[in-house]
Amino acid sequence: LEISLEQAEFRIPKTFPNIKFLNYKDRKRILVTGGAGFVGSHLVDYLMKEGHEVIVVDNFFTGRKRNVEHWIGHGNFELIHHDIVNPLLIEVDEIYHLASPASPPHYMLNPVKTIKTNTVGTINMLGLARRVNARILIASTSEVYGDPEIHPQSESYWGHVNPIGPRACYDEGKRVAETLSYAYAKQEKVQVRVARIFNTYGPRMHMNDGRVVSNFILQALQNESITIYGHGKQTRSFQYVTDLVDGLVALMNSSYTLPINLGNPIEHNIDEFAQIIKSIVNGADSSIRYLPAVEDDPQRRRPDITRAKKYLNWEPKVSLDTGLRKAVEYFRREILRSSMPIFP
Ligand code: NAD
Ligand code: UDP
Repeated sequence: LEISLEQAEFRIPKTFPNIKFLNYKDRKRILVTGGAGFVGSHLVDYLMKEGHEVIVVDNFFTGRKRNVEHWIGHGNFELIHHDIVNPLLIEVDEIYHLASPASPPHYMLNPVKTIKTNTVGTINMLGLARRVNARILIASTSEVYGDPEIHPQSESYWGHVNPIGPRACYDEGKRVAETLSYAYAKQEKVQVRVARIFNTYGPRMHMNDGRVVSNFILQALQNESITIYGHGKQTRSFQYVTDLVDGLVALMNSSYTLPINLGNPIEHNIDEFAQIIKSIVNGADSSIRYLPAVEDDPQRRRPDITRAKKYLNWEPKVSLDTGLRKAVEYFRREILRSSMPIFP
């Protein structure tokens, strides 16, 4: 549909979700790197609704404009297409640094780029934080514990990572990102916060993400067989994305400076998880197909969240059943959307 410039001038303005009014001195300018991705876009929603100014920086490797399009045109919102491997000059009060591919198939696609994003990219963001005196939160991961020998994993555990395996680009990249954060804190007095995020799921996950939640739901919805890698006895603990967002904001606003686990401590093995998904997806008739195990797959993972409870007064609230039902609805719509002639 084409319109003339004159018509454009008189167009009814776009409407936006409601936001709180914050007066000028309480309103912060907040940069979210990776803000067009799955977690980042939910964080953006939260910060926008609180009335802050939000700047998203993303190179759209795994993120999509669609995830934040409901804010495009809002006076408090800005979207910058930029790769954080290159320096960025901008004035902000806080930085949530989330830019990095997160699913194994995505971060293994270009391991050198994954390392650059997490090392050079993190240096650029820490340098920016130093220059403008902004507090910065780094999105680290439970992968820093590797294939853990300690269960559940508390923050004092140093991890068990293969430095040259297929996951190393991500695991070691994030470990260096943590090391860089504390080096900048010590040497340059940058205020850093480090969140060790455990498996998270919810709407806006990428359909081709390749992670277990998206794969199993899509397979169940389409009555395809559910693919289990290895014996299926490996475990994970899944948190719903809004719980994570609450934890990230609580950490940013706290005075606690050491790494903090953010995850849901309820643990399931992958066999059980396949059955849970089948029972939630009405009418799913998928069979189970066992495929070869992936290399260096962590065998047991569950967060010890004592620290988050004590210092952030945070714990997950959304049950797996409630969260998965929302994720299933989202993927149902995504399948419909992908069957339309124009798939944005
Ligand atoms: P995602 O892939 O949906 O989002 C990552 C975003 O970063 C995307 O929008 C992508 O385009 C952007 N990005 C990647 N490289 C970039 C670069 N060089 N410059 C600019 N933008 C870049 O992943 P997610 O699940 O939303 O993960 C967000 C963060 O949380 C990541 O740092 C990830 O490591 C961390 N994390 C996520 C999980 C999880 O289960 N989702 C678990 C642990 C840690
Ligand atoms: N997995 C699986 N089938 C799939 C995708 C993943 O069995 O289709 C397994 C994977 O081997 C791992 C667990 O599910 O043991 C979680 O994998 P995911 O890629 O979601 O995240 P990870 O925690 O490994 O980063």
